[in-house]
Amino acid sequence: MASIFERLNDKKRKDIRVLSEFIAVYCREQHKAEDSKVFSINDDKLKSVLENKEIVLCGDCSKLLHHGIAKLLLCPYDPKPACRKCETHCYAPDYRERIREVMRFSGPYLMKRGRLDLLAHYLS
Ligand SMILES: [Zn+2]
Repeated sequence: MASIFERLNDKKRKDIRVLSEFIAVYCREQHKAEDSKVFSINDDKLKSVLENKEIVLCGDCSKLLHHGIAKLLLCPYDPKPACRKCETHCYAPDYRERIREVMRFSGPYLMKRGRLDLLAHYLS
């Protein structure tokens, strides 16, 4: 079986970075949790995808990001469609609701701050 990393093309790398940034913004602004810590992932390839950036997340958001990354890696579509437009709802229902919440918050938040690089991606 081919490693899932063989499917980790540039688009998916970018997707993972955008996802982590969206969740990080949401967590920082909405949770301000005291148990937040640097998101760690037990995989060197993924660390390089995240460019060794320190992403600080609370426990729940950390789980959400892990879930999101796993789903991205397993996405069977190539090119991957925007999740909002995809017919396959691959997120577990609980996570799906939470990621929508994250997008609703972080989309406008980043727009106000002129992060058009991220937004172009979000809207695509
Ligand atoms: Zn959080």
